[in-house]
Amino acid sequence: MTAESKRTDSSLVIECFEPATRRKLGEVAVTRPEEVKQVVLKARRAQQQFRSTSFAERRELLGAILDHVLEHADELCDFIVRDAGKTRENAMLGEIWPVCEKLRHTMQSGEEALLPETVSSGMFPHKRAEIRYIPLGVIGIIAPWNYPLQNLLGPAIPALFAGNAVVIKASEAVAWSTERFQQIFDAALDKVGLPRALVQIINGYGATGAALVSSGVDKVIFTGSMANGRKVIEESAKSLTPVILELGGKDAFIVCDDANLEQAAHAAMAGVFIAAGQNCLAAERFIVFDSVYDAFVGRVKVLTEALRQGDPRGESRVDIGAMATPAQLRVVADLVDDAVRRGARVLVGGQRALVEQGDYFAPTILVDVPKDARILSEETFGPVMVILRVKDEEEAIALANGTEYGLSATVMTTDAKRAERFAERIDSGGTSVNDFGFTYMAMDLPFGGVRGSGFGRLNGREGIRACCNQKAVLFDRLPVGAPSKLYPIGPFDYDLARETIRSLYGRGAVKKASAVTQLAKTAWATIRGNT
Ligand code: NAD
Repeated sequence: MTAESKRTDSSLVIECFEPATRRKLGEVAVTRPEEVKQVVLKARRAQQQFRSTSFAERRELLGAILDHVLEHADELCDFIVRDAGKTRENAMLGEIWPVCEKLRHTMQSGEEALLPETVSSGMFPHKRAEIRYIPLGVIGIIAPWNYPLQNLLGPAIPALFAGNAVVIKASEAVAWSTERFQQIFDAALDKVGLPRALVQIINGYGATGAALVSSGVDKVIFTGSMANGRKVIEESAKSLTPVILELGGKDAFIVCDDANLEQAAHAAMAGVFIAAGQNCLAAERFIVFDSVYDAFVGRVKVLTEALRQGDPRGESRVDIGAMATPAQLRVVADLVDDAVRRGARVLVGGQRALVEQGDYFAPTILVDVPKDARILSEETFGPVMVILRVKDEEEAIALANGTEYGLSATVMTTDAKRAERFAERIDSGGTSVNDFGFTYMAMDLPFGGVRGSGFGRLNGREGIRACCNQKAVLFDRLPVGAPSKLYPIGPFDYDLARETIRSLYGRGAVKKASAVTQLAKTAWATIRGNT
């Protein structure tokens, strides 16, 4: 039995397998599509109580989650490793750490982002204008499998701090660990005396996700593939449920002729081999200036050949684990085969590895990849470094912008002006200069994509405010009791409106003076007409 042979949309259970060994982990019950509304209803009831909690109380909740994650970090990493096949180091650095940082950041900065904001009341000086951040209600989160813990907690943290309940549909590919992850929330909610229904993780296939979109939730945060992102939009259009889409990427990693090559080589290794490349921000296309191309290729080849691959829970230490699903393994193998068939050269790896043991793809470097190879435009999501040669900045930018995606990008350069030019001109949601992926960990920065990588933002004040109704309110500053009478429309009202607008917006002293004179005449006519 393979890890996917029993995965069908109508199954009532999900059979879970360990990608590193193909051993069965267990079975998890599916929440059937028709049950999802009931789950959302429970969440909605819980939110009624939660919405009036103070920021201090919400900080206590996040603090309790943080304590639990820290106290059980080793155990949680073990669940992640077994379910997703990644290394313990990646689980600790790539899941536990960002989750803790997001909790810390939200506890520290969340309140400031959500306090009522006074803005100009414009043409109404007697009024006070405020933007109020009101919780939306229930937020539906639909998660992929590449970061089993982080994908669930990451969007839930700001949603909760903003006063919402959440229902999280986890990925069927990593369903086994969800029972343990639910305990994180349960323990924290119990500790601070809030109902468990405030955070519910449900399991299931695409149909359960689709049911969550149409369940009446107040917003959907979908993280996943472009193809399913489209389906989510189609479904959400029926009920006009707002969505945030965090989709895939085909990120460029640009190495300029003035880059520090040792720094570039190590950032490149992180960019492509973290989580065996199953990283939304993964560097998928290495765009290297001609004059440093050979030196860069030589260095990453040495580093890649030295990588140790195998079962992350095995006897010896490994640098890279398994692919999380057999389906993803096939995607990577197909794209590499297609490129090689069309003439690409394999410098390292290029095929499946440890075939008897589990779902592994060897750390791979491809060069001389022809323009028509699918791997240049389709998301790989695997441990494959595709290195392309360019002559200058213009060619690098054109290549970087040459796919339908736009999630992130990396630029290696020691020239600050050049870095700014790249940051301005690459079409992506973020750009990191001289390091890979750090934009995600600087939590004041918004995180998300443009074009085929989706829309809406998760981190930063934009991310937390996205979990709110950003409500416009005008309060009285001065108690002006006179009614603004519009009806019945008087004989001079049209002229009065026109001259008021001309005197407010007419450009140049002459035009303004003429408008004001005209306004005075019209006002006088109005008064006379009214007497
Ligand atoms: P996927 O689209 O196959 O599945 C994502 C989730 O959507 C799963 O829980 C799945 O069950 C659910 N789903 C499937 N069909 C659905 C439907 N019709 N309606 C609602 N939900 C549905 O993606 P995946 O293979 O799990 O994850 C890999 C993808 O996720 C990659 O493209 C990767 O780049 C992307 N990703 C993006 C980010 C980001 O922040 N931009 C982060 C991680 C992963």
